[in-house]
Amino acid sequence: MAVTAHVFRPSIGSTMNTRRALSLLEMLAVAVILGIIAVIILPRVMTSSKVSKEKTCYSNRAEINSAVERYYLSKGVWPANNLSNIRADKSFFPEGIPTCPVSGRQYRLNRTTHRVIGHTNSGNHAL
Ligand SMILES: [Zn+2]
Repeated sequence: MAVTAHVFRPSIGSTMNTRRALSLLEMLAVAVILGIIAVIILPRVMTSSKVSKEKTCYSNRAEINSAVERYYLSKGVWPANNLSNIRADKSFFPEGIPTCPVSGRQYRLNRTTHRVIGHTNSGNHAL
């Protein structure tokens, strides 16, 4: 009866080489996980940014409408539709009239209602 002795002798050099860097499979797993996280997180961040800009625009419009009414009460006439009179009088907006954070445009007043014109479906303020 032949006895075969199996001696396990791992090569020290080869085991050290295999753990020195991430394997291709590990790199792929990391890339896939990062991709999944990006797909989940990015739309939420983009949406919340859009919502906050729209809310800021709404707040700006309310503030300008209030200033328009104060202008009318103090001067007896409505300000120009492009808000040039209110812009010139630094007592209303000392740091300048805010612009729309969504479209980047200046606000204008409706000719008949003297209220700031809101957004259209395209996201821009109607002129
Ligand atoms: Zn706006």
